[in-house]
Amino acid sequence: MRVIEIAGLEKAYKGGTKALKGVDLTIEKGEIFALLGPNGAGKTTLISIVCGIVTKTGGSVSVYGHDIETAYRAARDHIGLVPQELTTDAFETVWDTVAFSRGLFGKPRNDAYLEDLLKRLTLWDKREARMMELSGGMKRRVMIAKALAHEPDILFLDEPTAGVDVELRRDMWELVRKLQSDGTTIILTTHYIEEAEEMADRVGVIRDGELVALGEKNELMAQM
Ligand code: ADP
Ligand code: ADP
Repeated sequence: MRVIEIAGLEKAYKGGTKALKGVDLTIEKGEIFALLGPNGAGKTTLISIVCGIVTKTGGSVSVYGHDIETAYRAARDHIGLVPQELTTDAFETVWDTVAFSRGLFGKPRNDAYLEDLLKRLTLWDKREARMMELSGGMKRRVMIAKALAHEPDILFLDEPTAGVDVELRRDMWELVRKLQSDGTTIILTTHYIEEAEEMADRVGVIRDGELVALGEKNELMAQM
């Protein structure tokens, strides 16, 4: 089943930078897809458009059949995004931060899902801690919990292992694999070929706003 369909996607930022120049891409349910490319290639722009944070200037994007612009709410319900930067309030507790995100999507703020999610991310014992009291690694875990709070079908991870220690990286991959086995589709961006190789079922190589290669991991690596 196709969960994301992107056709002829274009983005020209004000000022003239053409960040995307006609990208066609289809994502299948349950796959781990890596978008691989150097800094400035257009990775963040692409996922930001699919998540409805940045507006496109051409082409189309649909998520579970819902157009990202005309049916934004319905599309967005399916998506969780872990952005590169921290977007939490320093004075909020872990619990309130994640519960608030769940509440935004009309889900109960106090239920077994939330407890299970915090436990899976080893955040349960820290649930009363304020964000500013946490280490960088714990903050990243909260960002993941926030993204998963509304039980999305698709999880986007933007440069998930940039500046992350070995332990968190390992835990994150374990979580990603577990999510995949539960049927979640995972899309990550990276500029590390090893990361794409290690993690993904399928890789798309993006350079200067264009998807220059796309394929199963093994066949793609053989071309390079
Ligand atoms: P990547 O995630 O692969 O590093 P980005 O999508 O962040 O690439 O950037 C793609 C191109 O678009 C770069 O040339 C970048 O400078 C430009 N760009 C990104 N965001 C903006 C913005 N808000 N305004 C103008 N140009 C931008
Ligand atoms: P309210 O909806 O009244 O503003 P909260 O959003 O703070 O309350 O909490 C919603 C529910 O989550 C409450 O029923 C509360 O018992 C539960 N809850 C709040 N904080 C925690 C916590 N740290 N651990 C477990 N459950 C909590």
